[in-house]
Amino acid sequence: MATCTTQISTAPVLRLLETISLYLHIPFCHTRCHYCDFNTYAGILPLREPYVQALQIEIEQAGKLARRPDGTARHARTIFFGGGTPSLLSATQTRHLLHACRSAFALDEDAEVTLEANPGTLTLEHLIELRTAGINRLSIGPYPFTRGDSPGCTRCPRGWLYLH
Ligand code: SF4
Repeated sequence: MATCTTQISTAPVLRLLETISLYLHIPFCHTRCHYCDFNTYAGILPLREPYVQALQIEIEQAGKLARRPDGTARHARTIFFGGGTPSLLSATQTRHLLHACRSAFALDEDAEVTLEANPGTLTLEHLIELRTAGINRLSIGPYPFTRGDSPGCTRCPRGWLYLH
C-alpha cells in the first residue's frame, strides 16, 4: 500500500479561520425609499457625528472581545462601510472610523476597504479625501444613472470601483 509522505501545512487554513471581516453600518439616507427594509433613517443627518463617536467606542470594545486567546488583536482583512448611505459621512469621520478599526484589530496592510456610495454624494475632492483616508473600493449603485425614479438609492444592483 502506497504511503503519502507529503506534509500539508494547516497554518494558512487556521489563519483564515481566525480571520474576521468588519462591517460598519452607517444608517443615514437623504430619503427613505418605500421598498427598503434596511435599518436606515432620513432626516437625522445632524446625528452623524455622535453616531461616529459612539461607533468608535463600539469598535474598540469589539476589538477587545475578539482578541485571540493569547491576547493579541484579531486579524481582519476587509472592512465594509454599508448602509444606508455611508458616503454621507465626511472623509474625516470615515478616517476616524478606520483609525478605530486599525487600533482595535490587526488589519492587513493590503486590506480591502469598501464604502457604499451614492454617486450624488460624491465629488472629486471627496473621492480624493476618501482614498487618502484609506478607502480603496467603492460600491456604487448605478440605479440613478439608468432609471429616474429612485434618486439616491444605493441598494440597487451595484458596481465595484477600485481606487488606486
Ligand atoms: S437610499 Fe438605499 S439604503 Fe437608503 S432608503 Fe433608499 S434603498 Fe434604502
